[in-house]
Amino acid sequence: MDDQPQAQCQAALQALKAELNEEIINLELSAQPVILDQQAVGRVSRGDALQQQNMALANLEQCRRRLHEVLHAELKFSEAEYGYCEGCDKLISLARLLARPDSRFCLDCQSAAEQTH
Ligand SMILES: [Zn+2]
Repeated sequence: MDDQPQAQCQAALQALKAELNEEIINLELSAQPVILDQQAVGRVSRGDALQQQNMALANLEQCRRRLHEVLHAELKFSEAEYGYCEGCDKLISLARLLARPDSRFCLDCQSAAEQTH
């Protein structure tokens, strides 16, 4: 992979990581037990609060999984493997990497994997 697109991807990856870390902090706050925080809940009913908490937990799980992908991509950078599909070893298109810098697979391998599931 050339230096310039690589730098672009790395910047996109860092931005995504910062975004996820911030999101995780916010979600951790929203996902705290409702019972301890009756006053802050205010007029929102307990049922709503619980529902919000569950949503926050689900989002948190998703963000943590995505962060794991980002860390995996960082590892690939350090091993000069970044940008190569883990399925077919071809270079993943730059457009795809910039849109989703934590992509492990090229579009072909990704859609093949989705069809078999
Ligand atoms: Zn592939």
